[in-house]
Amino acid sequence: MLKKLKKSIAAAFIGVSLFALPAFAAQMPDEALETLAKETAEARENMVGYPVNQNIVLRDFYEWYLSRNLDKFMLNNFGDPFDQRSNYPSSRQIERKVIEFFAPHYGIDVENVWGLVSMSGTDGNNHGIYFGYNYLKSLSKETPILYVSEESHYSNKRLAHLQNIETRLIPCDEYGAMLPEEFERALDPARPALVVFSMGTTFKGGIDDQSEINKIIEAKKPVVVYRHVDAALFGGYLPYTNASALVDMKEYGYNSIAVSGHKFFGIDEPCGVFLTTKEVLARQNAFDTKYLNGAMPMINCSRSALAPLKMYWIINTVGEEGFRAGASDILLNALYLKEKLDKEGYPAWLGEHSNTVFFKRPAPSVMAKYGLAPEYDERFGGELAHTVIMQHVTREKIDELARDIVYLR
Ligand SMILES: *Cc1c(COP(=O)(O)O)cnc(C)c1O
Repeated sequence: MLKKLKKSIAAAFIGVSLFALPAFAAQMPDEALETLAKETAEARENMVGYPVNQNIVLRDFYEWYLSRNLDKFMLNNFGDPFDQRSNYPSSRQIERKVIEFFAPHYGIDVENVWGLVSMSGTDGNNHGIYFGYNYLKSLSKETPILYVSEESHYSNKRLAHLQNIETRLIPCDEYGAMLPEEFERALDPARPALVVFSMGTTFKGGIDDQSEINKIIEAKKPVVVYRHVDAALFGGYLPYTNASALVDMKEYGYNSIAVSGHKFFGIDEPCGVFLTTKEVLARQNAFDTKYLNGAMPMINCSRSALAPLKMYWIINTVGEEGFRAGASDILLNALYLKEKLDKEGYPAWLGEHSNTVFFKRPAPSVMAKYGLAPEYDERFGGELAHTVIMQHVTREKIDELARDIVYLR
């Protein structure tokens, strides 16, 4: 069946390749697309407000993709990437390779990993919370409580609400890390605990102290515990630093982790990875689905087949060396900006292992020019803004940014 299908797809490709591509101008619906292209190119230069690596290196990928006529076909990764039974063409075999590449970076043995290329960090958190809830329900009759910090990314709170899970928001210290004594106070040991750790809160880059929280869990012994790590941004680069233990499952015993693909790794569309263990997978409701020829443990049916291909391409072109260099660059450059502002006596802060510098909110013109995000915190004197230093942000751009922050009042 698959062979037959492959043959007919190949025949279709030969058919379409006989047609030459028309000129772009002939296809353009109107000027709107050209305007968009122009505005995007102009905006790129000053993008320092969002945690996205704009050093995208996928042109060769697109050329390969077109040269193989893959643009003429709808590949779709529905189903389990670790279960290859399917008659429909997909990139699930590549998706599995991507998950197996990442597993050891998060201290997960390749034989023990299960996961998927997600639609985003949020989708990874959705799976973490959903899988965690099911895991806990399979081990206890009690209903779980979700614990997450107040400064955690809003997606965790949204998803807890969406999944109708009783949630306790834990206050943070001034750098955005969950306060262990507040966690201890909130923890109800009679109920299963679904703990969501933030590895890099959105605004201040706060890192929850898994070791301290784990000590409290050990002492108070909730009936059963599941730990999900939201590492959308920091989870990309931490494995390539001397703080790699912070996202190591063997070190902290967490059960799942979500990382975005379009933040550190430079994928040009929202995507991510969700990694967990086979033990957690075994405690899910698989909804055995006959017509899809397999089990469907994940939330979504269709998934992008392109995103895993891009991830695989980046893993094999940028590679470990490139990721290591990128991690070092962004952390050193964040420190460079912080020290520059310090020298000027301009109030600025930078947490440990963080590429997110936050500072007293500058003039509106500076906020607009660089697309900076605002925040408010009395503990730092009120109005704040932050910048996330990613791979495309050069020292020259940082010099200009610092000058604007300090002098354009
Ligand atoms: C960006 C981010 C998210 C959301 O990830 P998306 O890929 O944008 O859905 C969640 N948590 C943290 C800590 C983030 O930095």
